[in-house]
Amino acid sequence: MKPATLFIHAGAHPDPSTGAIMTPIYQTSTYVQEAPGVNKGFEYARSQNPTRQALEEAFALIEKGKYGLAFSSGVAATDAVIKLLSPGDEVICGNDMYGGTYRLFTKIFEKFGIRFHYVNTQDPATIAAQCNEKTKLIWLETPTNPLMNITDITAVSAIAKAKGIWVVVDNTFASPYLQNPLELGADIVMHSATKYLGGHSDVIQGALMLNDKDLRDQLYFIQKSCGAVPGPMDCFLVMRGIKTLHVRMQRHCENGRAIAHWLRQHPKVGKVYWPGFEDHPNHSVAKAQMRDFGGMISFELKDEGIEAAMKLLSSTRLFALAESLGGVESLINHPATMTHASIPRAERIKNGLSDTLIRLSVGIEDVDDLIDDLAAAIG
Ligand SMILES: *Cc1c(COP(=O)(O)O)cnc(C)c1O
Repeated sequence: MKPATLFIHAGAHPDPSTGAIMTPIYQTSTYVQEAPGVNKGFEYARSQNPTRQALEEAFALIEKGKYGLAFSSGVAATDAVIKLLSPGDEVICGNDMYGGTYRLFTKIFEKFGIRFHYVNTQDPATIAAQCNEKTKLIWLETPTNPLMNITDITAVSAIAKAKGIWVVVDNTFASPYLQNPLELGADIVMHSATKYLGGHSDVIQGALMLNDKDLRDQLYFIQKSCGAVPGPMDCFLVMRGIKTLHVRMQRHCENGRAIAHWLRQHPKVGKVYWPGFEDHPNHSVAKAQMRDFGGMISFELKDEGIEAAMKLLSSTRLFALAESLGGVESLINHPATMTHASIPRAERIKNGLSDTLIRLSVGIEDVDDLIDDLAAAIG
């Protein structure tokens, strides 16, 4: 099935009791049983909810996987994955990733005896060299947040498979419209559904998608035992968001392309980070594993003073100054003080995330208005 059809129909079945075309919001905590242990497959809503079930079926289908699981946030989905591990286990992950993932790994899981190695995942040989008999999992983000680095999912998955190590890809930036890591050999895909899947900046949610039944059962057990499940209203919103994912992504990509090129020729703009440029260091990998290059762009001003960046950040009118991304409206963000403030400054600078880096989530407004807004703010 082609993406446009898939995103609209995934998980959608007429409601059995009324024929409602949209899966209803089953706002209930429990289900009445006919006799002890005799029920319709639903006992208690932390374990099962029909709205969540429909969404989880959609999650599986849109990532070309067999199983989907929904969580109360992207971070809760990541938390569930790391809970598959035991003290002494080791994880290899990128040195340029979402600040909240870094915080979860360093501040929560390290104290339970799980070790994380932060490496440059753009070079599969670096990953291979870091693997040992304690390595259980490789955590990838591609494109990375906020430097838009690209990791070759196929190459890393091949290295991991040979050693019996799981590969998990945070596919939030690309969305399933642009990239399907399970098809490239990854074991689990994670999404912050808060971003492109929801698409309207009105819900916090996370997702996991995978093919292995045993791994799915372990993650379902963690989901119901730890309880980080989304409410039915949030599931309904994400299900509705997915129906327009392809149309939104097409426009995010078009607008992103136009703005990346416009920024690059601007005399006051320094480096522009966007994987669609032919001279991006991993452009050929991006081109091979992604259908297009998305609406996320980072850049620096030529004026390296923090004041110039701060002035720009507070001068845009359409680009709203806010954390998050992937909604229909354009956002501007300062990673050093906002999304990535939880990473120590020395660590950030070492990995190329400067104090003056600015990140854009290009929305689906008219691109001429967006460029006018940036032009006026850059001055
Ligand atoms: C936002 C985000 C997360 C965390 O998701 P929440 O829904 O905010 O918990 C994880 N990874 C990436 C790449 C993100 O952008």
